[in-house]
Amino acid sequence: MMLRGYLATAGTCLALSFVVPDGSWWQVAVQVLTGYLAAAAVVVGALRHHGTGRAAWLAFAAGIGGNATGILVEAYHLHVNGEYEAPGWADVGYLLLYPAFATGLVLLIRRRSRGQDWGALVDATTVTTGLGLLAWVFMIRPAITEAGLSPLAHLAGVAYPVGDVLLLAMLTRLLVGGGTRSTAYRLIGASACLFLAGDVTWAGLNTVAVEPGPAAHRVLGAVYLLAYVLVGHAGLHRSAAEIGESAGVPPKLGPGLLVLLTLASLMAPLLLLGQIAAGEVTDALPIAICSIVLFLLVVIRMAQLLRQLEAQTARVRELSRTDELTGLPNRRAWAAELPAAVERARRDGAGLAVAMLDLDHFKRFNDEYGHPAGDRLLKSAAAAWSEQLRGTDHLARYGGEEFIALLPGADPGESLQVLRRLMAATPLGQTFSAGLAQWNGVETSDELVARADAALYTAKRAGRNRVEVAQPATDSRLTPR
Ligand code: GH3
Ligand code: MG
Ligand code: MG
Repeated sequence: MMLRGYLATAGTCLALSFVVPDGSWWQVAVQVLTGYLAAAAVVVGALRHHGTGRAAWLAFAAGIGGNATGILVEAYHLHVNGEYEAPGWADVGYLLLYPAFATGLVLLIRRRSRGQDWGALVDATTVTTGLGLLAWVFMIRPAITEAGLSPLAHLAGVAYPVGDVLLLAMLTRLLVGGGTRSTAYRLIGASACLFLAGDVTWAGLNTVAVEPGPAAHRVLGAVYLLAYVLVGHAGLHRSAAEIGESAGVPPKLGPGLLVLLTLASLMAPLLLLGQIAAGEVTDALPIAICSIVLFLLVVIRMAQLLRQLEAQTARVRELSRTDELTGLPNRRAWAAELPAAVERARRDGAGLAVAMLDLDHFKRFNDEYGHPAGDRLLKSAAAAWSEQLRGTDHLARYGGEEFIALLPGADPGESLQVLRRLMAATPLGQTFSAGLAQWNGVETSDELVARADAALYTAKRAGRNRVEVAQPATDSRLTPR
């Protein structure tokens, strides 16, 4: 309700700014009112919701209030003294926008990214370095070197583009960082973009020494007024309370950002080419410094992404080899381990046994106590069995209620003992049947597992709750000549 009233009033002010006489008190009133209304809307919004980032909203309000006061002060001088000699007190008001807005954005960024978001920091620094160099060449250096200005005028001339670069840096960091992309967030981003667009247009017109006509003047003025209104809208919007919330997921390096980073990284060489083409390289040193910084930033970003990729690969590898329910290695991990174990046993001449375990009548257990209880039993059995095994043994979940154990260095008697221990450790009086196969020194790992499996089948048929030792392999290589 309040938002609708605000938008109607602000929209009317915006429309009036196009019809009131140029240079009249009416014009001043409309512009200043739009600014103060926006600042008031933001303050009211910040007081109403108890969400995160109240300080940020107050900073935005201060920036807009200061900026609008600048208009008022300049108009006062113009109308009362007949002229406004820039720079003066009005510029203090105008300039307040930049540090205040940047402070608000910093406060939001800190809340939204929860901890360090180095990727976004590097991206924002890259964009700011590239566009900052552009600002240096076309706005800041000309303001410094312009002849016939007082020191104060030099300072003011430099302060505006520096403020723009500051605002740009924080805006980029906000846009490339994490956090929820709510309406209030988008409005604040759009408002900062409008302020920057207005400033860049003015700077461009100044560079080519064009004084905009009355109509263009009004449109440019309206750009700033619209920027005010968007902040007011954001402050009263219901999503204003959540603007400081982190989204929980790291932001993506999407195609848009990639294009922006590419352009920013190419800014230094492009400017150099432009100056060479224009016949005079006026900014060799800043271009060289920014080139170095941009190269380093790209390398840092690459290193970050590589480290992130390595960590994610390790995590995915871990997940792909682990059984989710029991936390044991899964069949894939076990299958990778088996040939290596056979190879080690061959080399060391040590024993190696494979045992295949299958819980007895587990379907019945599920039917009786429910599937979740079945899951719990699988988990606790896996944990209990693991405790009975040595560090060199490998127990894995083969699938369903079937498990497989690899017992390196064990002779037939020892392996049988191990399985007896596992039987005794099985929780809730549950039993299992097992097939045990001792590696014969020549067979392949597949043949070894096949024998254990056949022995398991025999154990089941023989009545369950028992360990069946596999028949020796009928391998021609074993028959004495
Ligand atoms: P047998 O003594 O012949 O091995 O009988 P069984 O009931 O254990 O064997 P069967 O192969 O007929 O059924 C296996 C059951 O194991 C069926 C299925 O419900 C259960 N099962 C398999 N995986 C899971 C699981 O992840 N959680 C639970 N709760 N049950 C499972
Ligand atoms: Mg079973
Ligand atoms: Mg089974």
